[in-house]
Amino acid sequence: AELKTSLSHELRSRLTPQLWQLLTTASQAAEERGWHLYLVGGAVRDLLLAEAAAGTLMITDIDLVVDGFHKSADVGAGVELAKALQEIYPVARLEIHGAFQTAALLWHKDQDLDSLWVDIATARTEFYPYPAANPEVEASSIRQDLYRRDFTINALALRLTSPRAGDLLDFFGGLLDLEAKQVRVLHANSFIEDPTRIYRGVRFAVRFGFAIEPRTEEYIRYAINSGVYDRTAQTNSKTPALQTRLKTELKHILEAPYWRSALQLLDDLGALQCIHPTMSLDSKLIRQLRLLERCLRRFDPQQNLIPWQMRLEAIIAHLAPKYRGKVAKNLQLQEDSIQHLQNLAAAKTEIIQSLSEYQRPSQVVQLLRKYNLEILILIALQSQRPIRRQIWQYLTVWANVQPILNGNDLKKLGYKPGPQYRQMLDDLLAKTLDGDITNPVEAQEFLAKQYHQ
Ligand code: ATP
Repeated sequence: AELKTSLSHELRSRLTPQLWQLLTTASQAAEERGWHLYLVGGAVRDLLLAEAAAGTLMITDIDLVVDGFHKSADVGAGVELAKALQEIYPVARLEIHGAFQTAALLWHKDQDLDSLWVDIATARTEFYPYPAANPEVEASSIRQDLYRRDFTINALALRLTSPRAGDLLDFFGGLLDLEAKQVRVLHANSFIEDPTRIYRGVRFAVRFGFAIEPRTEEYIRYAINSGVYDRTAQTNSKTPALQTRLKTELKHILEAPYWRSALQLLDDLGALQCIHPTMSLDSKLIRQLRLLERCLRRFDPQQNLIPWQMRLEAIIAHLAPKYRGKVAKNLQLQEDSIQHLQNLAAAKTEIIQSLSEYQRPSQVVQLLRKYNLEILILIALQSQRPIRRQIWQYLTVWANVQPILNGNDLKKLGYKPGPQYRQMLDDLLAKTLDGDITNPVEAQEFLAKQYHQ
């Protein structure tokens, strides 16, 4: 199954030899069974987008569609092909999703096809049971498959099998849209069917520097105005799949370098209402998100926090307190994120009230160490500068101060080990923080006075 046309050549020159070999093997296996095999989705798009550039494409996900020529025995063609490939590539892990007749082959990092994920689906032909072997019909089943996709630029297919291997199948004008740099939806109802496509559209537009095509933008606004977000934003357990997909899209957006522009575009389109009807990106939230970036750099040098998750928490924290927990649960955030958002209002009240009364660092430390870093950051973002300063000071300096003597020192000084050590060390820490003691001699004097030794 040597791929011949110019696109085959293009593909071959842009893939690693291992990946090219895999595709060749897969198309041979498909041909032997009388099937067609197509490369679809992002890989085709990225190949065409990068045409002007040189060098190997970074591909980590491959979508393949097998077209089984409508023979009923071939509904499981994708799964069968995946199994055949796994015999040839035994290191790959095979996953089969029976309900969808799809399969995936996974290579881990450090295997010959370094962290590659290959999805293999069967073209969905159930609505079009045409007789086989007619080239028009042959094309129409892959056409149907492509028509279910989100945008024209994602609905291109590259035929891997002969005859006409290397042909680009472009039923919806995807190539022209790539050239015109626009994100265009396939049909008017697309966003009503699946509101997460709004987020996907924004993501692709911002990522590639494309415009959202005007008609597509109208469809987006129409979907939002007709309350499509009720389905995503409302509290009900009927749409967990939709919520999960929305969270996935939010994650993709918030972990990308272009997350700010994407958020801005989502807001311009009114699409943040999918998270909650009252959600919008006002100047306050923009400022808080900017502060958050500084916090992540300064207070989390070890990168224990997950930036996209913190961004999402900050966004949800911008809602009125009564909505936060519900939105976090709806989006199926992790339990600790839900906790932060639910506890935020109470913690904030306590912290703001206490900090405005406290004079001594030791008081601040005693209060703030009850809270974890995430919640302190969320509160700082929303607070006035004096409060924020104290939280910053705590995080950068006071939280790291150690008592001047440690447990061993206490033992050497003759204090009997026991529960009171905790209290002694706490007292020493407080005195150290407040500058009342500055060296071991003063520490010993303090202990002697306080604990009568
Ligand atoms: P990326 O480079 O971000 O991975 P991708 O196009 O490969 O881009 P995926 O999310 O992996 O994005 O989706 C693969 C393909 O599946 C898309 O190109 C698109 O054709 C189709 N697709 C994914 N999600 C949807 C959706 N919600 N509605 C319709 N089609 C979708």
